[in-house]
Amino acid sequence: RGYATMLESSGEQNDQQKNYARMITRGVDNMAKLVNNLFDLGRIDFGVGLQVESIPVLDNIELVTSSLQLQATQKKISLGVEIPKDLPDTVEAYQALLQQALYILVENALKYTPEGGTVTIHLQCAANSLTFAIQDSGIGIPKIDLPRLFEKFYRGTNREALSQRGTGLGLAIVKSIAERHGGKVWAESELGQGSTFFLQIPLVQPKESRQSQ
Ligand code: ADP
Repeated sequence: RGYATMLESSGEQNDQQKNYARMITRGVDNMAKLVNNLFDLGRIDFGVGLQVESIPVLDNIELVTSSLQLQATQKKISLGVEIPKDLPDTVEAYQALLQQALYILVENALKYTPEGGTVTIHLQCAANSLTFAIQDSGIGIPKIDLPRLFEKFYRGTNREALSQRGTGLGLAIVKSIAERHGGKVWAESELGQGSTFFLQIPLVQPKESRQSQ
């Protein structure tokens, strides 16, 4: 990747050469993302170095939205959070994992929503669980794709979605994270209208996971 980047500053090049150098960089970036995603999946499944903590819900969301705000602004997408009155201050979770899951869902929502749309994170609480519902006004998902979305490497059949870069591993990671918390993830969507992804986790984790590692 380094040498491909340096090509640009190593003398005159025609457009085709510049394009080839860009394609090398992009290819390496895709491979790096794929490898990182696979490492993430392995780490989550084996539970390496994971520790349950009591996490301030809103701070956690703020971290995710602030790191994706630039992406939203660039696409003129309004990114918001809806907070219910009865929101608990904290939830027990693996901090880094919960953040990663939310990041993937919000990043997807931004990626699969055309310019000028909206992405909203709704928080829904029940007696024993907290649900993050990430709603977008984007391209939507064909009905036949919905049951398979959380499979590794599955990228769906929607041409508009396939034109975006991706590894097809993001939602598999979210599913592993949800399961590690004893929670679940699912999606509802209307093609051409938008999608909502739900991530539900229990408010409290079993004692063993708090003491482990
Ligand atoms: P990737 O985005 O890298 O392809 P994911 O596992 O995150 O992989 O998503 C799998 C597929 O689910 C995507 O390729 C896309 O077709 C579909 N998808 C995910 N999120 C959305 C969304 N918010 N709106 C529309 N389609 C989505």
